[in-house]
Amino acid sequence: MASKKTPHCSFCGRPSNEVELFISSGVDPMGGLCIDCFQQIDKMLKNDPNAMAVYESLRIMDKASKPGKGGATIDLTDIPKPADIKAYLDQYVIGQDMAKRTLSVAVYNHYKRLAQQGKQSDDVEIEKSNIIMVGPTGTGKTLLARTIARLLKVPFTIVDATVFTEAGYVGEDVESILTRLLQVADYDLQQAQRGIVFVDEIDKIARKADNPSITRDVSGEGVQQGLLKMLEGTTVNVPPKGGRKHPDQDYIHVDTRNILFVCGGAFDGIERKIAQRLNAHVVGYKAVQNVAKLDKDNLIQYVQPQDLKSFGLIPEIIGRLPVLTYLEPLDRQALRAILTEPKNSLIRQQQMLFKMDGIKLSFDEDALEYMVDKAVEFKLGARGLRGIVETIMMEPQFELPSKNVKSFTVTLDFARKQVEQSTLTMSAKSQK
Ligand code: ADP
Repeated sequence: MASKKTPHCSFCGRPSNEVELFISSGVDPMGGLCIDCFQQIDKMLKNDPNAMAVYESLRIMDKASKPGKGGATIDLTDIPKPADIKAYLDQYVIGQDMAKRTLSVAVYNHYKRLAQQGKQSDDVEIEKSNIIMVGPTGTGKTLLARTIARLLKVPFTIVDATVFTEAGYVGEDVESILTRLLQVADYDLQQAQRGIVFVDEIDKIARKADNPSITRDVSGEGVQQGLLKMLEGTTVNVPPKGGRKHPDQDYIHVDTRNILFVCGGAFDGIERKIAQRLNAHVVGYKAVQNVAKLDKDNLIQYVQPQDLKSFGLIPEIIGRLPVLTYLEPLDRQALRAILTEPKNSLIRQQQMLFKMDGIKLSFDEDALEYMVDKAVEFKLGARGLRGIVETIMMEPQFELPSKNVKSFTVTLDFARKQVEQSTLTMSAKSQK
């Protein structure tokens, strides 16, 4: 029987001197918890998914509340200059000079802004310069944002704007953008608050102008409104594990003032809006001459904020994305360069894969040209190239590792045969 003088476990009643480990109660000098009861409770909780979720949230909240390594002030001498940023981008991204320059400057300014915040005395405050990139799919928007983040070693996440809907509808709250950033920063709040978020397919949340009230525009304007504050800089309550917010949940308070948002979108058909604007403004002989000088095949280079408005982005959003830049459609020459020139080009990646099996892989020039022809034909930009290379390399990737081969050359005939075979199988399947 437990002596009245010895503290005892408040669950099983055993005295503390009869158990291996005893955790004293903070309020009752005679009460506490023995290790056996503790283990029982721990086991019960671990088998309960709800309890586990609470556990996990508490762990995350605890981590986010501690100062992380991201708290240090930024020293501008550590940040590469715009020309260095561009030179780095050049190693991975072909062409797109204008976008590279704009991004390099915007990112550099962003860091100047962070560096300025360490000092209180400056009275000119540099404003945040979120970026919007307009350009056809598969031309390098994501690649640019990803490459910059790698250079700057800041948390980086890509989110797809199409998954968001207004609160109350099936989909995710816009706040979950920040949950992802927190996750990549391993819940180091300070680090996450300096990260870069790439919001892809921003054009898909454009307001549908002729959308009548019978179908609510839950994924359009409502989401744009949700994004607004976040873009500008505010404290957002972020559910630690994403998804929908619910009332009895703890939130991590994320300050978005120093998070750089880079938005990208294909804005299909925006050339028409640009053309309309350019034509509408033609007044006088000189203007007509200027319009005649326009590069009509590549109108995207003349994109202006008002074209984004005609497309359906609300003016407030456009105002919060002050740096507007464009990506050009990739021509044959660019596609050919993408195959072999970038540091981790598709061809180099294949060569690496074969090298690991001790096989030297090479490609005839006309085989490479053939791949480019096919990519142009499929109209998928650089994204198509990858599919084509994979199709051609499928058979050798399967066969060669088990054969005693030291080298392999992809010829035009071989490449053509593989592509034709696969299109035959595909069309045969689609006829079934
Ligand atoms: P999007 O513009 O749709 O975001 P991505 O950046 O995702 O296009 O490009 C898809 C893939 O195509 C990339 O992973 C990359 O391999 C290749 N690619 C696209 N554009 C370029 C480019 N300008 N230079 C090098 N590779 C590119």
